[in-house]
Amino acid sequence: MKDSVTVTQPFLPPLEEFVPYLKDIWERKWLTNNGFYHKELEKALCEYLKVPFISLFTNGTLPLMIALQALDITGEVITTPYSFVATTHALWWNGIKPVFVDVEEKTGNLDHNKIEAAITPKTTAIMPVHVYGTPCNTEGIQKIADEHGIKVIYDAAHAFGVEKNGKSILTEGDLSILSFHATKTYNTAEGGALVCHDEKVKKLIDYLKNFGFAGEAEVLMPGINGKLDEIRAALGLLNLKYLDSTIEKRRQIALKYRLKINDIPGITILDETPDIRSNFTYFPIFINEKEYGINRDKLYEKLKSHNIYGRRYFYPLISTFTPYKDLDSANPDKLPIANKFANTVICLPMHHGLNEDDVNNIIKIIRLECLN
Ligand SMILES: *Cc1c(COP(=O)(O)O)cnc(C)c1O
Repeated sequence: MKDSVTVTQPFLPPLEEFVPYLKDIWERKWLTNNGFYHKELEKALCEYLKVPFISLFTNGTLPLMIALQALDITGEVITTPYSFVATTHALWWNGIKPVFVDVEEKTGNLDHNKIEAAITPKTTAIMPVHVYGTPCNTEGIQKIADEHGIKVIYDAAHAFGVEKNGKSILTEGDLSILSFHATKTYNTAEGGALVCHDEKVKKLIDYLKNFGFAGEAEVLMPGINGKLDEIRAALGLLNLKYLDSTIEKRRQIALKYRLKINDIPGITILDETPDIRSNFTYFPIFINEKEYGINRDKLYEKLKSHNIYGRRYFYPLISTFTPYKDLDSANPDKLPIANKFANTVICLPMHHGLNEDDVNNIIKIIRLECLN
């Protein structure tokens, strides 16, 4: 029997193609601190992503924290509870109070219609997430931010390469963060980045990720170490060559899931968005127990019994975790949609390594279950 089918699988290029990069790094004897491959990758990513400036990081969480430092964010920040926990942790590490606001039924993204009611004199920014790579209502969010003179920082960890009407979603707001973690569509094993609009901000971010050094003997601010090394920058350059073909594989799988799952009573999938270039990183389905016959956790276990490992992204909600559960805004009565999403979601396996049998098998199990 085949090995287990997991929700994702890290993309790895052919090893023999990586060896020449390693040999070159060995010859250069330069392992980190804005080296050759670091610069090459920043250039290549600006081009691929159609963004003006990017600063690379050693993971996706440090850029979230540094974005807040770079823009002097303090007090309170409005954010979504329906995300990976790092989004809120970055606020906590900066001594900022997270204020949770509910999400939209259509996308799972922060509901821009509910933001204004949560703004107080202490609010300095909004930190939304493009969940599953679906763009937030960026226009609606920007309008509120402009009216109140506050910043917008997007956690775009799921939105690598996502475009709306041919324009990168990563240039929305003041800053966008990316993650190149092994589980994401584009990976450098661990890695991440900040996308910004101008050279001055890029410079500030580059100082902040290198202890605040602005020269050999000048430290401008209390920075941190967030640098990406040469080995992972080189892996990033190589992986970028394979990205479009892996996204295409994911697209085919998404197409098949959509076609075969769409009509199952009690299972909802998110709408397709025709003007969006998606990266097909996730395929979430939402289970209505009454109509489908069993609840989410039962289906999750059922899939597991067949060696298929979906993931309940994002469950539990961030607002239910110990450090945040006592905040006023964490009250579940104020977050009905986020709670519904968290309690009904399963992300189905979605990666370049799935074959047709795997996908058919997953669909078969989900369909059979609904006849019970
Ligand atoms: C993966 C992820 C992060 C954190 O990225 P790391 O690279 O693992 O530090 C942040 N936010 C979201 C929404 C993520 O999915």
